[in-house]
Amino acid sequence: MYKIFSIAFVFSFLSAGNVFSLGNQENVPADEIVLQENQSQTVNQAQTRTEPDRAELVMNALAQAYPQQIEKAEYRNNDWAVLLRGKWYFFAGGRILPQELTANAASYSPQPFYNYQAELPAWRKPTPEEAERYGNMSRSRNQNPLRRSPHFFDDLWRAHNNAESYERVKTLRFLGHSVTVHNMILENLSLVEEEILAASRRDSQVQAWINNISSLEGWAWRNIAETQSRSYHSYGLALDFIPKSLGGKQTYWLWTSQYRNDWWNVSYNERHHPPSAVIKAFEKYGFIWGGKWLYFDTMHFEYRPEILILSGMPPETRR
Ligand SMILES: [Zn+2]
Repeated sequence: MYKIFSIAFVFSFLSAGNVFSLGNQENVPADEIVLQENQSQTVNQAQTRTEPDRAELVMNALAQAYPQQIEKAEYRNNDWAVLLRGKWYFFAGGRILPQELTANAASYSPQPFYNYQAELPAWRKPTPEEAERYGNMSRSRNQNPLRRSPHFFDDLWRAHNNAESYERVKTLRFLGHSVTVHNMILENLSLVEEEILAASRRDSQVQAWINNISSLEGWAWRNIAETQSRSYHSYGLALDFIPKSLGGKQTYWLWTSQYRNDWWNVSYNERHHPPSAVIKAFEKYGFIWGGKWLYFDTMHFEYRPEILILSGMPPETRR
């Protein structure tokens, strides 16, 4: 399923072996590479763990992340499963499928339950071999778009279509801007905001980052760009901070790729990054930052407590 190597490579985790104690990206077969949400990819922990082990970790992380929605995780019918509002969902090689779709698992892309980095590793320019691989990935991504089953997350967030999703969202003010998000993350977001405001009083870079926000984009029913998979914006679980000025820097690999082929050569110095206090405030309450993805999206945060739990960074408060 997931190959950690990507984030590893681009962020030059040569040391991924160190960063990911379970990872072994030296032996990652290209055909096992999975493009992740917003298209970062990670090394499959199944490389070093057995598949059932990974299944158990992921399903327990989901149960821990969403205790109000998921009653339990349990091994049944030869696979790990979670009971979500009375319905069993099976790991199915990372696809998280209801029983009736498990026979058809191969037609779906695995979900991105990758290892997330606590700290951004030092930048390293990709080698020519890596650069070639990234180029190939970008091409195959266009030819073979991600196709993840939306069933589990649609049920989890009770948002199966545009109209139903819209019933779940609320519009709030965040750092002085209006944004529409899922009503289940209102409390976490207000904790994030408190944290950022506190940081802004002692860190002028945080205040400057706030002052540079032009607008926020939250809920929008749509697929991930150029894929057939649901974006987290569809549930109102992702926020984009649109800056007034990028200061000549890059923020989203897809925009960058429209005028230069080697988006993977954009170093951190050339990217528009929020201050680390902002990133940490989001991570503390269950959100991951898109700037840590191979397919970087430095404006983007999304609510993925299960990813943080899997990465040894359990959020401070969880629903
Ligand atoms: Zn976004």
